[in-house]
Amino acid sequence: MNAHDRTPFSLPQQTGWAKSGKQPSIAIIGAGMSGIAAVVKLRKAGYANLTVYEKADRVGGTWRENQYPGLSCDVPSRWYSFSFALNPDWNYRYSYGPEIQAYMEKTANDFGVTNIVKFNTPVVDLTYEGPKWRLTTENGDITHYDIVISATGVLHKPAHPNIDGLETFKGHMFHTARWDHSVDLKGKRVGIIGTGSTAAQIIGDITDKVGAMHVFQRTPRWMVPLPQTKYKAAWKWLMRKLPFLQRRAYQFYFDAMVNHFSAATVGNQKKLARIQQICLRHLKKGVADPELRAKLTPDYKAGCKRLIFCSTFYPAITRPNAHLITDRIARITPTDIETEDGKVHELDALILATGFDPTAFILPTKVTGENGADLGTFWNGAPRAHRAVSMPGFPNFWMVEGPTGPVGNLSLITISEYQIDYIISMLDKMRDEGLAAIAPRQEAFAAYNQQMQERVPETIWASGGCDSWYIDKSGTPNLYPFLPTKYLEDMHAPNFGEYRLMREEEIANCIPATEEKALVYA
Ligand code: NAP
Repeated sequence: MNAHDRTPFSLPQQTGWAKSGKQPSIAIIGAGMSGIAAVVKLRKAGYANLTVYEKADRVGGTWRENQYPGLSCDVPSRWYSFSFALNPDWNYRYSYGPEIQAYMEKTANDFGVTNIVKFNTPVVDLTYEGPKWRLTTENGDITHYDIVISATGVLHKPAHPNIDGLETFKGHMFHTARWDHSVDLKGKRVGIIGTGSTAAQIIGDITDKVGAMHVFQRTPRWMVPLPQTKYKAAWKWLMRKLPFLQRRAYQFYFDAMVNHFSAATVGNQKKLARIQQICLRHLKKGVADPELRAKLTPDYKAGCKRLIFCSTFYPAITRPNAHLITDRIARITPTDIETEDGKVHELDALILATGFDPTAFILPTKVTGENGADLGTFWNGAPRAHRAVSMPGFPNFWMVEGPTGPVGNLSLITISEYQIDYIISMLDKMRDEGLAAIAPRQEAFAAYNQQMQERVPETIWASGGCDSWYIDKSGTPNLYPFLPTKYLEDMHAPNFGEYRLMREEEIANCIPATEEKALVYA
């Protein structure tokens, strides 16, 4: 029997937080950038009953997990900052990973986030027991919350390539997001599969230290030079003394990135052509050998895959110990990689720079909404959300950086902050009107996603002649296909007509998601 076949049960009358004038209990899952911002902003808005669940032992999210050499952020530091914690002390225009991780930790400490985080506590199950959520952790603890906010990040589940013999390799092998610091690569024959943003930074950083660097490229990437600068002490002093300069810089980089790179990807052909010219010039300047240059020249348009900002890759790949291999990988053996041209590339270590599963988000946590709806089944391998923050059938469950939000060559911190403000508007609405639950209407969700689908042909992701995770197999975008500024404007003032605003009477008739709960309520 599935949940839809059951007779509705009458739940015991529960007075929701909003009607009783209490503070809502809010669970935030993930203590990365979005989780930290959520705590700070919720508190500022008056919501103080917060608990953060974090699977690891430190805050920081992607900046804690990624520790590969050369790790940096290709979004300028002055914009890749919390609006409530602008940082005059950034050392570089484009920060390196450890400095960003330190900033995350400092912000979490300064704003009293760290002390409300339950570390080493993965959440394994979330079940809607209208209007509350039952949250179960890996160690079996169960707590009920009025509101759940998923802040688990976009790309965090490493994707391993499906290559014949991969598991038989006997040398050192690890994914870039699980860097093995116990391995000294100095003087070794190193192979790296992948040529995305991550691989470019690693290759740029370690090629001069390893014995040989074998780069296995399936698709070449367009690359813009990264105008890196180290900030002088006087500049930091000035930023500290004149905070308005920090705000100006934040806005300057915001405008520059959105007006150029985002505008180009969502349809501005002139800007796109200009970016492609910059990439071609960078390539020509960086790679003198015409044969190598040809191998590194994409046959699709710039912007189709995520643009790489990197000035260290071309100097590295042109070193005598670097080998760019463009023949397809046939198989991996215990000691080498064999390519389809019959060549054998012997390796001591193999780095998998093969990216992440873009469909994970909060999964594999099991999330069960109204009437037993399972989130994994609802998404069916193609995660969708209403305005990237909520799903029909999952009331009082919000996502920060959920599916189809604006990502790619911009500061996700800004996007997260707007989404959190939007969620706060929803909580305010519940409080002001004594509502028990809010969830997007199915029609609003469908219309929103239809609008995005219709926009796809105008984007470079669809017309640029490449494959990427930006568009799924059905041609539906995995990210926002309009200008990010449109998204932010729309998020500024929620249209409550898009939502089911539920009072307690409507909740009482919901069907418990599982038989087990039926017993609880019997
Ligand atoms: P990625 O962009 O998904 O690149 C994965 C690479 O692995 C691609 O070159 C891909 O080739 C290759 N690959 C995957 N499976 C393969 C296989 N079976 N055989 C051969 N090659 C294979 O991953 P990433 O570089 O880790 O970047 C992921 C995301 O992290 C980026 O989109 C970006 O958002 C973020 N990131 C950001 C920064 C930053 O500075 N802000 C830095 C690093 C990463 P194909 O292209 O042919 O698929």
